[in-house]
Amino acid sequence: MKKELHIAFDDTDSLKGSCTTHLATLIVHEIFDQVDFIDFPNLIRLNPNIPHKTRGNGAVAIRIEGDNSDLAVVREVVIKTVKKMARLEDENTNPGIAFVSNAIPKEVKHFSKRAMWDVISIPEAEEFNSLTNVDLIKLGNGRGIIGALGAIGNPLEDDFTYEHLSYRLPENFGTKRMIDRESILVADEGTPLTFSNVDYEYNSVMITPRGADPVFSGIRGETPEEVMKAWSLVKPLEEIAMLMVYRTNQHTNQHFIKDFVIEQLKPHQSAIVQGVVSKAPHYIEGSHLIFSIKDDTGVIDCAAYEPTKRFRGELSNLVIGDTITVFGGIRPKGENHPMTINVERLKVDFLVKTVSYENPFCDNCNARLKSAGKNKGFKCQKCSTVYRDKKQIEKEIPRNISLKEYLPPIIAHRHLTKPIERKNQNNKNKQIRNSEVKRIMKLLLDFRNES
Ligand code: ATP
Repeated sequence: MKKELHIAFDDTDSLKGSCTTHLATLIVHEIFDQVDFIDFPNLIRLNPNIPHKTRGNGAVAIRIEGDNSDLAVVREVVIKTVKKMARLEDENTNPGIAFVSNAIPKEVKHFSKRAMWDVISIPEAEEFNSLTNVDLIKLGNGRGIIGALGAIGNPLEDDFTYEHLSYRLPENFGTKRMIDRESILVADEGTPLTFSNVDYEYNSVMITPRGADPVFSGIRGETPEEVMKAWSLVKPLEEIAMLMVYRTNQHTNQHFIKDFVIEQLKPHQSAIVQGVVSKAPHYIEGSHLIFSIKDDTGVIDCAAYEPTKRFRGELSNLVIGDTITVFGGIRPKGENHPMTINVERLKVDFLVKTVSYENPFCDNCNARLKSAGKNKGFKCQKCSTVYRDKKQIEKEIPRNISLKEYLPPIIAHRHLTKPIERKNQNNKNKQIRNSEVKRIMKLLLDFRNES
């Protein structure tokens, strides 16, 4: 009888190289012929505001089906490959592996939801070892079990997207990625169901990362077919080692699920906070925009940093009294700043009326009146008429901000940011067919076998 096995791992990489998806793709290659895949490998991004992450706080889950003996072999392959490939020499690399047999326990799913916005300790994750169908393996201090459980417990039952990843040959790691820029524009144009390939506003190509990691390109989209079509239109100018398509929670805003009042906020959480602007936006050194909001429980600073570009300009139009909902990461108090919400997204809920006051006009000669002194009314400088009862005229100043949601440009998006192009998109109820998963994954794996 076939059994399900869910496998996940995290914290295998360092900034000097490697990447958890690269390791996962190598493992997929090793085990593909031995078992059935019940899903594409899942790339799960967790709370992007936790301090220990290397880059994008991503962990990978692989979901398979097979006979007991095959699953036991796979288990050994995973442990062996993680041990061999993980950057264990780096003290910040602390891999964790999680295995869940058959159904994912509801407690693990709940943990996974929390891992999207909260900061979780290693002992809290370790407690899951007591569940009979959960098996956790720690290397180094084993912090990676948090991410591994977070990934395993998120079978992407809500909104999701796909990412096509291509990997470089080891000899090219750390060098500039060679790619035909024009072809990226053609691919973007030819695949309406991909998104965030290019930031046209800031003239920046988004599909090639910049670090020393093995990823050559990442193309994000709504279907596996569309991301693969985009890849077929892209012209890499260096040899590619491997390909894989991941199903992922990227670009779904999944880290913003919890509403907070200000006094509840703790460092490194991802939070939704509604408040009233209590200190007007102002720029500080480095061109960062700072303002404060308050609610019934407290006051907190909010920051839109320089890399968010025109987003700062848009938010600079807020004034005291406006009601807004801020979506962001909680930066702990530092030497020179209080605890602050790093704003990733902002919704304007209510705008106060802004007004200016002007002196009234003379009834005789229509000239603008001058003040006759404090509480003495107005005087016409042309005909000298004095008006004791006239009042200043209130004039509404149009607001340069509206009741809507504001997002930074694509260059400043996080992996989880839902871009404007996806605003009305939700893949929640889209079916994943095993036969399609198998067919597409085979195509991708054959690329390495052929090359
Ligand atoms: P990459 O994107 O290159 O894969 P990364 O940014 O995912 O790297 P890791 O090296 O995997 O970074 O480190 C992230 C660490 O944070 C892991 O040990 C993971 O278990 C842990 N972690 C993930 N989510 C949480 C959370 N919500 N609370 C506490 N720790 C977490």
